[in-house]
Amino acid sequence: MAIERTFSIIKPDATRRNITGKVLTYIEAAGLRVVAQKRLQLTKEQAEGFYAVHKDRPFFNDLVGFMISGPVVVQVLEGENAVAKYREVMGATNPANAAEGTIRKDLAESIEANSVHGSDAPETAKEEIAYFFKDDEIVG
Ligand code: GDP
Ligand code: MG
Repeated sequence: MAIERTFSIIKPDATRRNITGKVLTYIEAAGLRVVAQKRLQLTKEQAEGFYAVHKDRPFFNDLVGFMISGPVVVQVLEGENAVAKYREVMGATNPANAAEGTIRKDLAESIEANSVHGSDAPETAKEEIAYFFKDDEIVG
């Protein structure tokens, strides 16, 4: 299995509760390595652009409002099968449906305030990483 990279966001519900370190524990325990990380206050334009794929969904405005409600931590994670592995560690979108031991089951507040974002495919990961990081900000 080749080493792969994925893109992660620790969302405002987690920064607000000061549990970014707790989230990181799940990531590192899964064998994923943080190779880039920064804390940001997203602008409305950045959040709308990042979630453009959801722009016609009924929850889009709420989602953008939530994502700019406080700081986020954006990360590049590296490891074997990183995209699928991080989705597994995150758990289902709705914490009520997430498996035991996942970030969302253990830490998330709601289907919207669900603590983390992770890319859904290797191609998306490349685009999402490039949306937030320059090549020289990633140190593997
Ligand atoms: P993900 O890939 O598991 O993060 O889920 P999606 O790509 O389907 O949705 C993106 C984000 O939109 C989710 O992580 C949630 O924060 C939010 N979201 C998804 N579905 C809903 C919903 O039904 N209601 C609300 N308010 N937010 C949602
Ligand atoms: Mg998604």
